[in-house]
Amino acid sequence: MYYKFKDKVKSDINIGKLVCLARSYKKHAQEMKSEIPKEPVIFLKPASSVIFNGDKIKIPEMSKCIHHEVELGIVIGKKCKNISKKDAFDYILGYLVALDITARDIQSEFKKKGWPWTIAKSFDTFAPISEVVLKEYITDPQNLDISLKVNGKLKQDSNTSFMIFSIEEIIEFISKVMTLEPGDLILTGTPEGVDEIKKGDILEAKLGNICSLKVIVD
Ligand code: MG
Repeated sequence: MYYKFKDKVKSDINIGKLVCLARSYKKHAQEMKSEIPKEPVIFLKPASSVIFNGDKIKIPEMSKCIHHEVELGIVIGKKCKNISKKDAFDYILGYLVALDITARDIQSEFKKKGWPWTIAKSFDTFAPISEVVLKEYITDPQNLDISLKVNGKLKQDSNTSFMIFSIEEIIEFISKVMTLEPGDLILTGTPEGVDEIKKGDILEAKLGNICSLKVIVD
């Protein structure tokens, strides 16, 4: 599966692993009654969960409650490992807006049991993404409005300036753990306002005025 680019300059980047942050905005951590972390909390989603603009989110049979989480996505452009904050931007290809769809009932149950909640995040169609905007076209990715409407109603409305960890800090941290490769995607975590979505709902996500995403729950 390949990325789609807004300006059609690049079209041959294969989607790699999805590295995601949990509890990345203070108010979301509070609404989930979670502790505010001292360093990024990360988990993975498979590339097979990715869908694009106009595609449909499928509610899995295993879940009775799926939630939306709108997030800034960072697309990695160059292979990197042990990158320091000051060099982080050199390894970014571009940005997109994404939804980290979550089976909240499964996640809550597994959290209680102390099990990994991989399943809750990994179903097919659980990572809708917009086209990629190359970084050259974005002045300040750390100051972009990020929002989500469900059936026309504003449900999430924040700004990337409220992220607990900066883009550079996130890349520095993740690259200490694992090699990041071209096409890898970092989902930087969701602001407050997450909620349940149901069959027939229309989701419209927006990142500043640079990219948007529209998907339907099937
Ligand atoms: Mg998330």
